[in-house]
Amino acid sequence: MELTGLSKNYNNFIIDDYFDKKTEDALMNYQDDVRLTRNGIVGPATWASLITRVKTIQVKLNSLGYNAGSPDGWFGPVTTSAVKRFQSAHGLVPEGVVNPRTRVKLFNPHPIDNFETRPSSTSLSALDPYVAKLAHEFLRLCSANGLDVRILAAFRSWDESDRLYALGRTAPGAVVSNARAGDSYHNWGLAFDAAPFVNNVMTTDRAKFYLMGHLGEQVGLQWGGTFKSIVDLPHFQYTFGLTTEELQDGKRPPR
Ligand SMILES: [Zn+2]
Repeated sequence: MELTGLSKNYNNFIIDDYFDKKTEDALMNYQDDVRLTRNGIVGPATWASLITRVKTIQVKLNSLGYNAGSPDGWFGPVTTSAVKRFQSAHGLVPEGVVNPRTRVKLFNPHPIDNFETRPSSTSLSALDPYVAKLAHEFLRLCSANGLDVRILAAFRSWDESDRLYALGRTAPGAVVSNARAGDSYHNWGLAFDAAPFVNNVMTTDRAKFYLMGHLGEQVGLQWGGTFKSIVDLPHFQYTFGLTTEELQDGKRPPR
């Protein structure tokens, strides 16, 4: 229940008292997101973290005049109803889940930047300047190692993320993404996707992807090929140690 309310239930299943594999996945996603040890077990630290996060939301809703009940850390019907009313009042889909767009409206209602409304771009100049600098170093290093690496994606618009997230859920097709708008580092200018090309065609040679990933790590980038949840060979990011939730709350990389 708490995981669903906090928008960590990526697979749209009903979390009940029966703790199954899907619940464990959602829990491990949550643990990754909040930098707890990823073990799929609701130990004291994970439990305390869930309660605290729900309480923070309840206190905020109450302070804005949406009665979320006493801040007890339980994401129950009263809190869900308050979230729905808040969402309706802010032009959001009243789903009762504190998804990233809702979180931004709650905790960073007047952002100094425009990530939510920017268009997608494959240009490195659309990234955070430091991440763009790392990306250029990475491309030079690839070239020096005889790899023709090209950028496939850089900044991803929030609308595009919503469209990708809907596939296989509310829109026809297969599930291709677990990241709602605001949950991907692409939405914050801190990630890009790249691939090695051979004779102007993207290669399927995994060895070349691994070399590319290794070179990215050498310049200090985090490579998606090392991800535990979904291995993402073309993906690179540099997060400044910020979680996407912190970015939603208004924290920004140092300048
Ligand atoms: Zn990516």
